[in-house]
Amino acid sequence: MLSQKALLLGAARRPALRRALVGTPVTRQVVDRFVAGETLPQALDVVRRLTGEGLAVTLDHLGEDVTDRAEAQRSRDAYLAALDGLAPLGLGRRAEVSVKLSAFGQALPGGEDLALELVRPVVEAAAAIGTTVTLDMEDSSTVDATLGTLAELRRDHPETGAVLQSALHRTEDDVRALATPGSRVRLVKGAYDEPPSVAFQGRDEVDAAYARCLGVLMRGPGYPMVGSHDPRLVSVAQRLAAEYGRTPDSWEVQMLYGIRPAEQHRLAAEGVCVRAYVPYGVDWYGYFVRRLAERPANLRFFLRSLVTT
Ligand code: FAD
Repeated sequence: MLSQKALLLGAARRPALRRALVGTPVTRQVVDRFVAGETLPQALDVVRRLTGEGLAVTLDHLGEDVTDRAEAQRSRDAYLAALDGLAPLGLGRRAEVSVKLSAFGQALPGGEDLALELVRPVVEAAAAIGTTVTLDMEDSSTVDATLGTLAELRRDHPETGAVLQSALHRTEDDVRALATPGSRVRLVKGAYDEPPSVAFQGRDEVDAAYARCLGVLMRGPGYPMVGSHDPRLVSVAQRLAAEYGRTPDSWEVQMLYGIRPAEQHRLAAEGVCVRAYVPYGVDWYGYFVRRLAERPANLRFFLRSLVTT
């Protein structure tokens, strides 16, 4: 039987549903809970507020699956503008950016070269203001290409971050390969609907794989970034960090903007480095649907708003 996640992600690909959701004012209100605004100035206001409250941030210009080179170039330009906007705030690594290579043309013909060509100036601009770029991970068909681009970028910018998804069978090997000195790796469960041939299907299996991967990262010489809202896994991370003598500046927890904000602040007050993933921009549909798909409560919140507004 199809899971709720598979059903929702599948239905969301229908253009009619996309048009209906994007065009509904009520959707916009719900989206605002997860998205920091449509414009860069709005996103920078959120960055100022969150960093003022003691969090670090990673800024994501929303967009994915571009269909031509010009659109991919616009993604690059949006990130260069974001880094220009971050520069005067002087936050260094407390404000970094996350990119999806599909927004840089990865899926177009010759797209791996194009994505590398377009993302490189973003990585250089980030380094120039003392911060970093993390390459988000998309569906399983893109993992080899994304890790290939990561390896190229790390030649000159070893600080470039990677994301690995515990849902995928291959990830324990990838985690071991990336657990190298200074290597920044965000570990997540995985937001995409993947077949049993490549991914664990049960929550317990995904969680157990997450804990195993976390053990490898925490024991290793890299910089683990624990991308999860799951209280059990965050406590496992804290326990492992203590066990392996990690200092607060040698690992971090990351959560999405608008999800468990009180917990983000509570952990930060305890001395954990907490980074909020802050998405902004007009192309919020794919991001929003993944948030609905991963948690029944998010879906209920959305459906309730449709009937009560
Ligand atoms: P879930 O399995 O969703 O939830 C586990 C438990 O956490 C719940 O049972 C509940 O106890 C608690 N919880 C979760 N949400 C809430 C809430 N709103 N309120 C109260 N309790 C809650 N995925 C990718 O595929 N690629 C990426 O590049 C990527 N980047 C990410 C970056 C960050 C910073 C984060 C946090 C996630 C990212 N993801 C990415 C998404 C990720 O893969 C998961 O889909 C998403 O984080 C949901 O999994 P979870 O670990 O948070 O726990």
